[in-house]
Amino acid sequence: MESMSTSRPGVRKKFSKRTLETRPLPTTGDVVVISPRGAERLKAGHVWVYRSDIVSAKEISPGAVVPVHDHRGKFLGTALYSSSSQIAVRMISPALVPDLAELLRKRIRQAIAYRQQVVRDSDAYRLVFSEGDFLPGLIVDRYHDILSLQILTQAMDAEPVRSAILGELQELLKPASIAERVDARVRDLEQLPARSSGLLAGKRGNTVFTMNGVRFHFDALEGQKTGAFLDQRENYAAAVEYTRGETLDMFCYQGGFALHLAKKAAKVTGVDSSRSALEVADKNALLNQSDIEWIEANAFDLLKDYSQAGRHFDTIVLDPPAFAKSRKNLETAIRGYKELNLRALKMLRPGGILVTCSCSYHVSESEFVEVVAEAARDARRTVRLLEKRGAAKDHPAVLGVPETSYLKCLIIHASQ
Ligand code: SAH
Repeated sequence: MESMSTSRPGVRKKFSKRTLETRPLPTTGDVVVISPRGAERLKAGHVWVYRSDIVSAKEISPGAVVPVHDHRGKFLGTALYSSSSQIAVRMISPALVPDLAELLRKRIRQAIAYRQQVVRDSDAYRLVFSEGDFLPGLIVDRYHDILSLQILTQAMDAEPVRSAILGELQELLKPASIAERVDARVRDLEQLPARSSGLLAGKRGNTVFTMNGVRFHFDALEGQKTGAFLDQRENYAAAVEYTRGETLDMFCYQGGFALHLAKKAAKVTGVDSSRSALEVADKNALLNQSDIEWIEANAFDLLKDYSQAGRHFDTIVLDPPAFAKSRKNLETAIRGYKELNLRALKMLRPGGILVTCSCSYHVSESEFVEVVAEAARDARRTVRLLEKRGAAKDHPAVLGVPETSYLKCLIIHASQ
């Protein structure tokens, strides 16, 4: 796969400083000019330039494919431009891009080939992960014979781009249907006209997919995100390895962990505050002939009740929603993670297993490990870290683009 990196020391050395300086200054109008700070960011391997680092982008139309220059006129690569987002520039190639549709088709083929290399035992996975696949602003998930796509930027929303994407997906994968899930807030931020979710191709919006031998109902037009939390696929399989006895899946949604744990556990309880998620979870249990107790409750309240009632478990999964949506609420988020982990650790029988997750990008892996360590100290438990995990490989993390790496999943053994 081509590199998105714009730093090519070998090539750069060939130009003397003087050559660069004597080049003509870029003409504004057909290129985006970025500040030295923006250029440094790209050199370090990132693919975004924030609006505050744009020196000039006059006459660049929303969603345009544009060459990016530094303030001295040096060409840095080609980007997709957004006229409204704080992320004004998303690099798409270190080279010139004469035909965006052609490049997109190539990248989609590469994304599919990559999944063939890294996905096992599943017909549901993320097929295109935006920056993780060098296709910024495009997400495509596969659920058996249905594709679900999300378009997040002005450039990807342009009609010729949409039809190139759809055409390529149809030709290569021949799905029964292609659905689009619209995030109204994102469209608003990108100043794109409102659109509703629905089928773009085909007639059927529902199917059944299989992951690690567990079956799930999927409805393209219901549920959160694009359906399931596909990023946890490998963590489900890892959790099963350690599962035993009485197990609790907190924040279970449609039963991702619970249905996997049921393969080994003596008893499984799944808890979520969303009734509609639990209704699907129950149908999933039926599909797998698993006997699972579903409880509609606020996780914090239920954990309090359980600890007052002296309940104990052998395996507990904590997979809450992102508590830190931005750096501003980091402290509140850390307090939330601490409370959950503290209560769970107190409730684990000796030798018990805690599978604890955070999908807050703003809470780093080391901060999360520290929170769990503090919770263990306060709970007076001796804990050992068995596994430090992230998102499944179909959500590739690009080095240099930290935003592509957000999910943390720790598997902990509580000895006494
Ligand atoms: N573990 C799930 C994904 C969890 S997503 C899987 O693998 O599929 C987070 C879930 O937390 C959502 O289903 C949401 O409904 C639920 N949730 C959010 N706040 C909650 C709360 N306070 N108590 C219980 N559930 C909550």
